[in-house]
Amino acid sequence: MRLILLGPPGVGKGTQARRLAEYFTIPQVATGDMLRDHIRDKTDLGQQAQSIMARGKLVPDDVILAMVEARLREQDALDGFILDGFPRTVPQGVGLTAILERLSVTLDAIVSVTVHSDIVLSRLSSRRTCTQCNAVYNLVIHPPRVLGVCDACGGTQLIQREDDRPETIRKRLDVYYEQTFPLLAYYQSTGLIREVPGDGTIDEVFQLILASLPEESIRA
Ligand SMILES: [Zn+2]
Repeated sequence: MRLILLGPPGVGKGTQARRLAEYFTIPQVATGDMLRDHIRDKTDLGQQAQSIMARGKLVPDDVILAMVEARLREQDALDGFILDGFPRTVPQGVGLTAILERLSVTLDAIVSVTVHSDIVLSRLSSRRTCTQCNAVYNLVIHPPRVLGVCDACGGTQLIQREDDRPETIRKRLDVYYEQTFPLLAYYQSTGLIREVPGDGTIDEVFQLILASLPEESIRA
């Protein structure tokens, strides 16, 4: 199974990618994690990326693509992989197409998990984080036992992180859709796009993703 998983912030994409990776016994390839690993291990690519980030710049696509290609050439990715949140843009998509051609493999599906922006806003803006131990609560679906008190450490500073403020969430959603619509257009002609509604529970969404996948690639 070779899969791209796309979805806006707040849709639980990372969780679904992890579950799919377990289900198919294939690696979850997330560029953010890869970048951290390369920097930690001081690889050539990691050192390049770090010097670029130290200058306050975004890591360019050619560095990200080189990391993706190196990862997809590893033994555990030969029979399949889930690209979690990559590609994000059309140039990255074009780069990925070239990588897959060099590896002589093809994608089985591009799953786009969709959710109404209002749902993302209410989910994320209900999040509170403990300033003492970083435990995360949700005032609607996972509140602390005593209002305003952390279950884990008893701390009383449960705050809304900058990332979880409605205006920040709106900006992140705007960026996501600005980048993703052209990307979906780029992949349109492949016929591989599966749109899956992401407003159910984690289990419900997982089952919908599985049901959307081509049967022949599930058996393989
Ligand atoms: Zn705490």
